[in-house]
Amino acid sequence: MPTAPFMYLDGAIVPYADAKVHAFTGVVKYGCGVFEGLRGYRSADGDLLVFRLAEHAERLRFGAKVMRYDHVHKAVEIEDAVLFMLRANELREDVHIRVIAYLGGDDPLHQTGPVGLVAGALPRPSAGPGGGMHVTISSWFRIADAALPPRVKCTGNYVNNRVAEIEAFQDGYDGVLMLTAQGKVSEGSGACLFIVRAGRLVTPDVASDILESITRDTVLHLAEEITGHPAAERTVDRTELFAADEAFWCGSGMEIRPILSIDRVPVGDGRAGPVTRAMQERYFAIVRGEDSAFAHWLTPVWGA
Ligand SMILES: *Cc1c(COP(=O)(O)O)cnc(C)c1O
Repeated sequence: MPTAPFMYLDGAIVPYADAKVHAFTGVVKYGCGVFEGLRGYRSADGDLLVFRLAEHAERLRFGAKVMRYDHVHKAVEIEDAVLFMLRANELREDVHIRVIAYLGGDDPLHQTGPVGLVAGALPRPSAGPGGGMHVTISSWFRIADAALPPRVKCTGNYVNNRVAEIEAFQDGYDGVLMLTAQGKVSEGSGACLFIVRAGRLVTPDVASDILESITRDTVLHLAEEITGHPAAERTVDRTELFAADEAFWCGSGMEIRPILSIDRVPVGDGRAGPVTRAMQERYFAIVRGEDSAFAHWLTPVWGA
């Protein structure tokens, strides 16, 4: 599916074919771009609702700070770039949105600017509640925070996720789970992990070399309502995966997706379990604006 015809590039709306940077800019030479992936959902009344736009803008700003960019875009600039681009494309259908604060220029490795901003959208229906995944534990470790910051959504980091994903796909799996260099469970190539043990949600803590996922935060908010207990954020051992009754991915792109097996061992009875199903139901209702209690997480593109 092609990207929508118009993109935002450094303050202007440009046709997709013209959203270009030079081949020797910092983002190409050094993998230095901080990005966000987020989704917009069509609501029942035909609007397009961007989910947790403010939190995505803040995380992009955090990444720009860690990357020592000499210019950190204001949250309002980032949010306006996304809305400007969606409106230019007259989008009202489900979309996946990508924003990149990229290092421009053609300068030495320690260059800190200029910093540009680009945004585009890919019309992409929500996967909805269907479809579980069969995943493997990667032979590649997750990058360690003391080497490359996993909590920054930096383009250069994704060499790590990519080698893991390619290995998994070529070995016949449709997803990959990575361990930290210490051998604890970390996360997937583009999503965080939750498991369910005895009715309680458990997820690797933020010091497990994970990207601090906004969807993970959403699940943490909903945990008590769904299971009766707050979720536990702690280190997770590899063998706990086989003790889990349920497991699921969470991420803006992945949404809430059941994990049915890990290294061909069924998770629980090998079907999406009740906590996963309940979490999906709540998530999809919230992102489509069916629960006014979460309206503050939604930015309508066309409405008031
Ligand atoms: C983007 C991403 C996630 C999910 O983060 P969300 O904020 O929920 O979209 C998780 N892990 C990695 C490695 C990611 O790149």
